[in-house]
Amino acid sequence: MEPSLYEKYSRQILFAGLGEEGQRRLIASKAVLVGCGAIGTAVANLLVRAGTGRLRIIDRDFVEPSNLQRQTLFDEADAREALPKAVAAERKLRAVNSAVAVESKVSDLTAQNAEELLSGFDLILDGSDNFETRFLINDVAVKLAIPWIYAAAVASYGLTMTILPGESPCLACLLESGSSGSLEDTCDTVGVLGAIVGVIASLEASEAVKLLARRREALHGRLLSCDVWTGRFQAVRMARNPQCRACVSREFSWLGGRAQPRLTMCGRDSVQIHEHSRRLDLETLRARLEQTVSGVRHNEFLLRFSVPPYEMTVFSDGRAMIKGTKDPAVARSLYARYIGS
Ligand SMILES: [Zn+2]
Repeated sequence: MEPSLYEKYSRQILFAGLGEEGQRRLIASKAVLVGCGAIGTAVANLLVRAGTGRLRIIDRDFVEPSNLQRQTLFDEADAREALPKAVAAERKLRAVNSAVAVESKVSDLTAQNAEELLSGFDLILDGSDNFETRFLINDVAVKLAIPWIYAAAVASYGLTMTILPGESPCLACLLESGSSGSLEDTCDTVGVLGAIVGVIASLEASEAVKLLARRREALHGRLLSCDVWTGRFQAVRMARNPQCRACVSREFSWLGGRAQPRLTMCGRDSVQIHEHSRRLDLETLRARLEQTVSGVRHNEFLLRFSVPPYEMTVFSDGRAMIKGTKDPAVARSLYARYIGS
């Protein structure tokens, strides 16, 4: 290892669980993060500082002031500029550790692009905020035999589990066999404390380091949950479902697109339109919109404007988020009227 890298990671190399060999493997590893919100920013920060060789960050959203309480890679300037989260995270992380190849993808993970975006990596990290995306990750991970780490937090409570396809239970074993849990709560309906995000992200990042440094014997092997408000912690060994749709029958229904992705953004008064997968020339669109709409703002990644009571944010990949409605029909008609059909 180069002396400068040895010096940079010296405190981690001193840790007996890793050593120089573990650090070398970590430097040679590649991970992909789906969703760069609260848990995602915290995990990305830990893994980039730890010296993971390559990190791809996939996120569909942009930075808003309400994110800053818990999304630790972003600041007020990012929110003012409405930077895409993936781009803002990449900029910050490059400044933190230039030895890591950080790559941002401003994109929504869908059945169409999931295999392409996630294949070729040693590990998939869950930083998403909804179960549609997690089941899609689970399908790809099981199909391509890539380990992934499930992580979620709402209110003061969170949970995480490491999934080794073919060895451990998968997300479908856990959640499609009866007990549904309170999957309807989201951080947009019941809120979330920054502190629980930090705990869950730290558990996820330490499992990631074990996997990427090939120290599998150290994985905790349980569904871990904790509540930072009550101080309750739980670690439960889960069993595989012998009839599991995904990891036994290899029926990848989310990847096959049979399960419909949700258009509405969880708990927010917004609808995302993403059936128009085509590149948009934002400069041309801006020039056209400015003839009829006032206050069009844009950066190189997205364009925003208001048509009261709605606010539209359009990305260069053709997606749009329409704030002010939960009705996909209203959102589609606004899209057709202002962006094109
Ligand atoms: Zn399974």
